[in-house]
Amino acid sequence: MENNIKKLEEEFEKVKNEIINIGYLKKGSIVKCYQTCGTASCKCHKDKQFRHGPYLWLTSKNNGKTKSILIPEQLLPEVKSYIENFNLLKSKVAVLEEISEKIIKIKIEILRKELKKRKN
Ligand SMILES: [Zn+2]
Repeated sequence: MENNIKKLEEEFEKVKNEIINIGYLKKGSIVKCYQTCGTASCKCHKDKQFRHGPYLWLTSKNNGKTKSILIPEQLLPEVKSYIENFNLLKSKVAVLEEISEKIIKIKIEILRKELKKRKN
């Protein structure tokens, strides 16, 4: 069992080191949309095909509130990489949490066995 913990600890360290190299990160996703403008006489109000855009919005939800940032097309690849980094970090944290849970379970087992030994 202690061997299992050692393996898990190594795995934990490995994933932790992968996290160190993750760069800027941003929660959310890119939404592409076409919009009508504020000029009532503009043709965008008459026909959907004349709507302006595409506009790239970086939208994210925080405590039920949606936040949107208009992203210039030139920055799209960079912003996309931030989003990828965020999702990557989230998945790594989930792995670290899983490993930690396994360690707790093993430690509980070890403790139980020790307590049993003491009784006998
Ligand atoms: Zn318009």
